[in-house]
Amino acid sequence: MSLRSRRKRALIRSKNLNGHGLQRKPSEVVRKEIRQRCGFGCVICGAAIVTYEHFDPPYCDAQCHDPKGMTLLCGAHQLETSKGLLSKQTIAEADRAPFCKRVGYAKHLFDLGGKKPKIMIGGADVTECGHRIEIDGETMLQFLPPDLRSSRWRLSCRFVKQNGSIMCKIVENELVLMSDNVDIEQQAARFSISSDNETILELELHPPDALLLKKYCQFTKNGRVVIGTEKIADICHSMDHPDQPPKMINETTLRLETGTSGWSFIASRFVSPTGLIIKFVNGAIQFASP
Ligand SMILES: [Zn+2]
Repeated sequence: MSLRSRRKRALIRSKNLNGHGLQRKPSEVVRKEIRQRCGFGCVICGAAIVTYEHFDPPYCDAQCHDPKGMTLLCGAHQLETSKGLLSKQTIAEADRAPFCKRVGYAKHLFDLGGKKPKIMIGGADVTECGHRIEIDGETMLQFLPPDLRSSRWRLSCRFVKQNGSIMCKIVENELVLMSDNVDIEQQAARFSISSDNETILELELHPPDALLLKKYCQFTKNGRVVIGTEKIADICHSMDHPDQPPKMINETTLRLETGTSGWSFIASRFVSPTGLIIKFVNGAIQFASP
């Protein structure tokens, strides 16, 4: 092989390109089209942790990222394909009738260990709120201690759209993402659900014992509960520099836009992002310093 050919191959490898100079990662527009067509999970088994797979033609022969010749596969099925144990014909058949479109959801079993899970909602630690959090009498989140069958804590959650239909739920540690959502994107440990180009749910799982709810809005009989990121004044900065205007920082916040508190906490106590302890005692709210 000539020096020029060797240099060209080294350049292709260093930039993670195939022989036609095509990058491994497709554009966001192509990825979204594939996700929506496949129902947000592996087309064979419905697993929600997926990669974008070229099946017609295979990646080594592809000159562009054509969404028609690409699909979603989980790690196990992608490995079977690369080892020649899963045919391109089987993948093409599954792509025409994806698993998630047939059953209505994609799924992922959350790795929750033997320790009581830490639950963060809007930046507030609500771990001490007992075993259940309700909004207007409907259970949003509950966790149960290990039972005789397993040594793991069991977490269940339910997140609904404005029309009341379920967009995502966790049933005893199994995350279930409904395929009729507009878009669901999974990056590292974060799951985001979007509607009309706006993120309506953002969840982060931190195995083995933490769940972060960073963005969500639930409409209630009395108003709505809003969890999201807002610009707020940095109180610590203001105290350290009283002569300067307060610095604005992005904080994940929990806001209750209700005439009455639609939340009911069992054994209620949580710590706000600024460290303030908030207690709900007999329906009244009490504040305490840490
Ligand atoms: Zn699979």
